[in-house]
Amino acid sequence: MKPDVLIAYPLRSQQMDMLEERYTLHRLDLAKGEEREAVFAKAGPVCTAMVVNGHVTVDKAFLDKMPALKLASCSSAGYEPIDVNEMTRRGITLTNTSEVLLDDVADMALLLMLAARRRLPQGDAYVRSGDWGKKGMMPLTTSTFGKKAGIVGLGQIGLAIAKRCEAVGLTIGYHTRTKKSGNDYTYFDDPVQLAEWADVLIAATPGGASTEGLISAEVLDALGPSGSFVNIARGTVVDEPALIKALEEGRIASAGLDVYLNEPNPDPRFAKLDNVVLYPHHASGTEETRERMAQLAVDNLDAFFAGRPLLTPVN
Ligand code: NDP
Repeated sequence: MKPDVLIAYPLRSQQMDMLEERYTLHRLDLAKGEEREAVFAKAGPVCTAMVVNGHVTVDKAFLDKMPALKLASCSSAGYEPIDVNEMTRRGITLTNTSEVLLDDVADMALLLMLAARRRLPQGDAYVRSGDWGKKGMMPLTTSTFGKKAGIVGLGQIGLAIAKRCEAVGLTIGYHTRTKKSGNDYTYFDDPVQLAEWADVLIAATPGGASTEGLISAEVLDALGPSGSFVNIARGTVVDEPALIKALEEGRIASAGLDVYLNEPNPDPRFAKLDNVVLYPHHASGTEETRERMAQLAVDNLDAFFAGRPLLTPVN
């Protein structure tokens, strides 16, 4: 008999084939309206595991319908809409995939930082339009080597960003709620002081209530008119209206953004700004990483049913 697994969010087709082969799947992801209750009614008593993603809301009402659940294998790194405290209370383990996507996400932070300061999109447009031939060299841009990077959130991804920033000649400072051991970076217990110190401020925290508006108007003003802000965390981490105002008024120099408040339709004022580089929440969007994320979700599930230790538990 194959074990029963709830699919709240699908994996890539190759990994879905693996799941089909090994488990009896209950496809909540394919159910609409009233069909969802029918899936819950059948899956609830028998599914000890589910595959989920950070796009799915898993609250008390959801968990009430899944009384046998012991494992939630999440195929993304972020899990803001998943009530992990409630899961812990009920003895359910959540696993995620930070470990396999951190390099691509950290690369994107570096890319956004450099692209914003070196005005890469403007340079590209300058060559394509023929302006280079007509007007001569484009205006000078801003260097990054020898400057200071302030990283807000020094977890797995923040650390990978720090290493890349060091490699291109930046000094590292960081802000987290608790000072981290095992590095020589300068710790700031206050994000405003970190921003005052830094030339580039990079957000790499989780989203959710505890980080909402952490990058406030005050933090952006402390970063100042020659500073750059990079966000690969979540749109909620920055006071977005304050960020737009700071960019419009030149109170910070530039920004590179992968995440926004209103995805996938961010505030249209961003598109009018010349000093921001925009990317569509795709920092982990490479073939290789998406493959690894889906496979890790399967591997956690397999470990659970084989009675082996989970590979990447969160709680
Ligand atoms: P980790 O849990 O490893 O690290 C989170 C870090 O943030 C820790 O250093 C933590 O330190 C710090 N932090 C948490 N809350 C606060 C707070 N209120 N104030 C200051 N610092 C805080 O997570 P990851 O590095 O794996 O991932 C970070 C986030 O990156 C994810 O949660 C997700 O939101 C985002 N992400 C974005 C992606 C994208 O495509 N753009 C892809 C993957 C992830 P402490 O607890 O001491 O405060």
